[in-house]
Amino acid sequence: MGGDECKYVCLIIECERRSPPLRDSDKGRTKEGIKLIFYFIPTPPSPYGDYAKGRRPFSTPCYFMSKLLLHVCCAPCSIYVVKKLKDDYDVTAYFYDPNIHPKEEYKKRFQEMKRWCAKINLKLIEAPYDVERWHELVRGHEDQPEKGSRCTICYEMRMRQAFEFAKENGYEFVATVLSISPHKDHKRISEIGNRLAETVGANGNSPKLKFVDQDWKKNDGFKIASRMSAEENFYRQNYCGCVYSKKKQ
Ligand code: SF4
Repeated sequence: MGGDECKYVCLIIECERRSPPLRDSDKGRTKEGIKLIFYFIPTPPSPYGDYAKGRRPFSTPCYFMSKLLLHVCCAPCSIYVVKKLKDDYDVTAYFYDPNIHPKEEYKKRFQEMKRWCAKINLKLIEAPYDVERWHELVRGHEDQPEKGSRCTICYEMRMRQAFEFAKENGYEFVATVLSISPHKDHKRISEIGNRLAETVGANGNSPKLKFVDQDWKKNDGFKIASRMSAEENFYRQNYCGCVYSKKKQ
């Protein structure tokens, strides 16, 4: 191990009682900024009786951070989720939000995301602003209230694009920040994410994409996110995004 490319050192420690997931105390960073990741692997049951118990050299493969594509819609909704994920995954933020109206508002939200990603050194990808396609998909659902069928279509369009991009680009996990909002229905987001993992994510015999299914607003997630956003002085919009939600603001 070594060279300029090396950013992580992974230490695997075999012991009796501890197992992943990691606890905060199991993570650290050297003075040079190299991230240390300790994985505690429970001692495997020994086929050789008590004599060999706990002494057998194990052959568990080394764990490196898995690539995760995180669909994001704005900096205020992302800050808490990124904080929760980035110690355990190699996160890339994926900005695909053709629902946002007007284009100036889209640019504002994207610029704020970009500024913050640069500050915390988070990779960010901007996907196309497919606004015409968004309008085509929600046609007939324009008058629906927030959390109605228009929103279900809107969640799915954005999440599907993230899954397709993740599949084409070798990611192992997909997540979305959408469930941080108290105005968004986690049950539907969960159903869509798990279904896309099984369908878009399936790839012959190779491993499927996994959906990190979390209701981020739980455990005061939304409250903490709001506090963090205020501390960062983020630009914060006062409507969800589309032209119909803007009319209702
Ligand atoms: S209210 Fe929000 S989630 Fe619903 S359709 Fe409009 S932009 Fe999408």
